[in-house]
Amino acid sequence: MKRNRRVKILATLGPASSSEEMIRKLHDAGADVFRINMSHTDHGSMRELVRRIRNVEEAVGRPIGILADLQGPKLRVGKFEDGKVDLAIDDIITLDDNPEPGNATRVYLPHPEILESVKAGDRLLIDDGKLQLVAEASTGRAIRCRVVAGNRISDRKGVSLPDTILTSGALTDKDRVDLEAVLEANVDWLALSFIQRPEDLIEARKLARGRAGILSKIEKPQAVERLDEIIELSDAIMVARGDLGVEMPLEQVPGIQKRMTRAARKAGKPVVVATQMLESMISAPVPTRAEVSDVSIAVFEGADAVMLSAESAAGDYPVEAVSTMNRIAVEVEKDTLYPGIIFAQRPAAEATGADAVSLAARQIAETLNVAAIVTYTATGATGLRTARERPQIPVLALSPIEATARRLSLAWGLHCVVTEDATDMEDMVDKACRLAVQQGYAKAGDRIIITAGVPLRTPGATNMIRIAYIGADGLHAA
Ligand code: PGA
Ligand code: MN
Repeated sequence: MKRNRRVKILATLGPASSSEEMIRKLHDAGADVFRINMSHTDHGSMRELVRRIRNVEEAVGRPIGILADLQGPKLRVGKFEDGKVDLAIDDIITLDDNPEPGNATRVYLPHPEILESVKAGDRLLIDDGKLQLVAEASTGRAIRCRVVAGNRISDRKGVSLPDTILTSGALTDKDRVDLEAVLEANVDWLALSFIQRPEDLIEARKLARGRAGILSKIEKPQAVERLDEIIELSDAIMVARGDLGVEMPLEQVPGIQKRMTRAARKAGKPVVVATQMLESMISAPVPTRAEVSDVSIAVFEGADAVMLSAESAAGDYPVEAVSTMNRIAVEVEKDTLYPGIIFAQRPAAEATGADAVSLAARQIAETLNVAAIVTYTATGATGLRTARERPQIPVLALSPIEATARRLSLAWGLHCVVTEDATDMEDMVDKACRLAVQQGYAKAGDRIIITAGVPLRTPGATNMIRIAYIGADGLHAA
């Protein structure tokens, strides 16, 4: 089973897509990685989803990545007596520390540290900014707010504080418990929400102990300001446009998306573009023209992955959303303008063996018109440096470590295969030829390029490049 596109598709699972049958359909339609949103999933359901994804993985014989998304310090109001209240401009509503159900004059805010931090004049954006409040006064236990825009608040709506400096870190008590549970369940990526500064990553890194890649969701202005440092401490990033668009002026988000994509490509770390990509497909079988264009922009920029949220998790057309995204990506990558646009953003190779070999492999591939680059990667580092070159021919990433293959399934252009280590150079070449043919990327008489670090499994030792002809039997180098 091979995909005919380089960008990856990340699909969020939820009530519309939690059965094994549905996960299989989403995979077959094009989903390469699945996201489990820990804001809405308890541990039992999470483990069940992981089990179902692994069953599908086994059935299709392809490594599948699983990303567990921790909720982070997402603030929410409590519940209301009637589920909701209607408000008018200049109405006063108080957020306080009383857990009783709310009414038209007050509601519970179950975050004591926020009640203390908000100052008069700070904005409070409720429900992704649909209701805007401004703090008039705060006692430390209650914030008196005036309605500036909007007219409705209901149970458990989110609260964004673009003007307030929060002293709490990025991991809440719930996140720490969730983190341990998802790592025990063997997920491949851990997404951290609402990080504000590089220090926020340190605790998660320590707790994860390398068991999963760390993906930083960039969704706060403070994180955008320190992007390069955050990328350096992360294994991947996400342009989390949902909350980013609440906390920053919406019209700045497209430029930030481009800068983030380029910065991540330069660092050679996967970047995911997320949120509202095919939003109208939550309730319609076809997307809007504007949404198709939005997905195409991320693909043209060379993002590693594009993500579906409610479209695949809770919408009426999860499979159609994935197959629509797949069709857009395939078509964009076939566009005659695509290679030039990707090439224009290709970063220079750094002075390392991995980069020198990856650059040379791409150049040889383009000069000789080979069928594929086959790279042996144990930790995944060589695979990512090859992807960083954005070669215009297929790349097979072979790894003896299942976790590496799963993790790399998020990265641009890598077709990952789990296979035992080669025993010697001849075996390495034979295996590469055999797998390139078997996976549908080459045929007898084609040439492939093989890269590796020899001896195998030495991290950071990419030092070998080899051109091989596939013999008439399609199995051995000729
Ligand atoms: P969320 O993150 O879906 O967990 O909120 C993505 C975003 O904010 O865009
Ligand atoms: Mn978010």
